[in-house]
Amino acid sequence: MALIVQKFGGSSVADADGIKRVARRIVDTHKAGNRVVVVVSAMGDTTDDLIDLAAAVTTEPTAREMDVLLSAGERISMALLAMAVTDLGVPAHAFTGQQAGLHTDTVYGAASIVGVVPERIGRVLKNNEIAIIAGFQGVNRHNDVTTLGRGGSDTTAVAFAAALRADVCEIYSDVDGVLTADPRICKSARHIAALTYEETLEMAAHGTKILHLRAVEYARRFDVPLHVRSSFSNKEGTWIVNESTRSRWDGDNEAPIISGISHDTSQAKITVTRVPDEPGAAARIFQVVADAGSSIDMIVQNVPVNQPGQATISFTLPVPEIKRAVFALERAREELGFAEIIKDDGVGILSLIGTGMRSHPGVTAKFFAALAEAGINIDMISTSEIRISTVLAAADVPEAVRVVHKAFDLDAEDEAIVYGGTGR
Ligand code: ASP
Ligand code: MG
Repeated sequence: MALIVQKFGGSSVADADGIKRVARRIVDTHKAGNRVVVVVSAMGDTTDDLIDLAAAVTTEPTAREMDVLLSAGERISMALLAMAVTDLGVPAHAFTGQQAGLHTDTVYGAASIVGVVPERIGRVLKNNEIAIIAGFQGVNRHNDVTTLGRGGSDTTAVAFAAALRADVCEIYSDVDGVLTADPRICKSARHIAALTYEETLEMAAHGTKILHLRAVEYARRFDVPLHVRSSFSNKEGTWIVNESTRSRWDGDNEAPIISGISHDTSQAKITVTRVPDEPGAAARIFQVVADAGSSIDMIVQNVPVNQPGQATISFTLPVPEIKRAVFALERAREELGFAEIIKDDGVGILSLIGTGMRSHPGVTAKFFAALAEAGINIDMISTSEIRISTVLAAADVPEAVRVVHKAFDLDAEDEAIVYGGTGR
């Protein structure tokens, strides 16, 4: 008898019909001989609506009361879903985060999980009944309700799957899983059967909308197999598992496995010229940028041969963070001793993700050849064991995605069906 945790996002329970459809799936899973624990998000846009309501009564909502307010969204959906499941003949019991035993620290609005004690959930399972848990919320040591941050229900689901040692944590949304590229710019994008946790983290960090990063990190730490799938179909979704489990899909040879392409046009590039080429120069620059609150992705430093003693440092960061970073650098100009700051917000980052790339030089060569053939100029490059990223002109990104997709034989025979899905 398997133990399955099923998490349903807001789009799956947007209205009464959605709740009934989801209830049917839960009961079917139970009838097939599984033990089932459900984690549910707030219905549709409820959380956004509650945030708007708070903003309508005050410009400075208090953090503690904000969590009381937002946790209400999931209380509604958990109660209705438990009723709908019970109505189909299998007793179901709804639990708030506190009742279910999800303990957090005291950071309202962005609480971290400190422990999961699913005692009551265990009792429900023992009776062969169904537990429905409100996602996104927990209780802190003051006995106050806390929330885990936007999209936090994924993390709730993984946390209970880990604590209950579930066989799988199924994450349901309105898309069929993860594709090899964004189908809006690459019509031949293909469905991915399985990814490792590491690849998923890289894809999510480089522009592919999949899951909450935190949920994937949690799953990796506790080795919880995830199955990302649609609640609107019965298709297999994408499995996210550890490397040895993933080899079941790929065979166990040593060929590099190219999983997919991510792209991100929300980054900008800053270049700092004529930085003194001496120990500590980079440390000072990145300390200033870090103090300005910027999260840096790629960094390239180069000392031109015709300019000994002077380095050029370029790095990428999210567009909304440029202003503050540049301001902070300018302010520290004297201490840092550079000549010029050049901003470029017309860049995009293309990343090829797959296992075993560094040990296969052919992968990098093929990647660059594909871009060269399309006449696409490469600006910056960074590589890791499972990723090659390049900075390009933002305008080149769609074509670059298509040519790289083709070069690595990722093209599907049929055009991808583009759903209007949100992935939530
Ligand atoms: N309802 C919360 C949100 O919209 C949590 C979640 O959906 O995961 O952010
Ligand atoms: Mg939501």
